Amino acid sequence: MSEIQLKIECKECKHTNVVPFNTMILSWKEPEKKKSMMDGSFFWGKCSKCGARIPIVHDCFYFDNVGKYVVAYAGSEIALRNAYGYFYDYDAGAVDYLYEHDYMKRIVRTQLELKEKIHVFEDGMDDRIIELVKLYLFPNITERFGKARVFYEGAGGKKLIFTERGGKILEHIDISDNRHYNRLSSKYAKELIDIKSDGPEINRKWAVELVTKTKKGL
Ligand SMILES: [Zn+2]
Repeated sequence: MSEIQLKIECKECKHTNVVPFNTMILSWKEPEKKKSMMDGSFFWGKCSKCGARIPIVHDCFYFDNVGKYVVAYAGSEIALRNAYGYFYDYDAGAVDYLYEHDYMKRIVRTQLELKEKIHVFEDGMDDRIIELVKLYLFPNITERFGKARVFYEGAGGKKLIFTERGGKILEHIDISDNRHYNRLSSKYAKELIDIKSDGPEINRKWAVELVTKTKKGL
């Protein structure tokens, strides 16, 4: 039902491949898709002619009925508008299901963020506090590595933040003692009341705005 056929040209041999792609992933029905999302293979296909790996760039929705959340990966402006419509425009249809089942709604703009959100929620953590922790760690990371991106990674139950630049992991930071997480959770307890009504874009920008608005610092 949600499977579409994408035409993707192989960069190596120029062959045009028809690659099936699922735009709606139901984690409880498709555990293998969930696994491929976590190991990154979900967004990779294989050229049927020369066997080269081909990247798949397409938007999708990831549903989890245990954690009761949906994450929309919206890589383009059009996809972003569609995701907002899907979440909030009652005429669009699917909204009823999300509200009926009290789903938490999130929108991410990159594949790495999609993976990160799943890790955060799988670990039963609050993505808003994780964004604050990342923001707190950020100055120290940029001081040492220059330009880098910071992500939460479950790493098999271990709570880690890793810093990344151009697909290369620069460093892992162990946050498993929850020290910063608990501290920032208490500090912002008044602002972080309802995780489900917040969002849908919980990211660095959101965290910066919260810290600026409240003048509470990190
Ligand atoms: Zn090829």
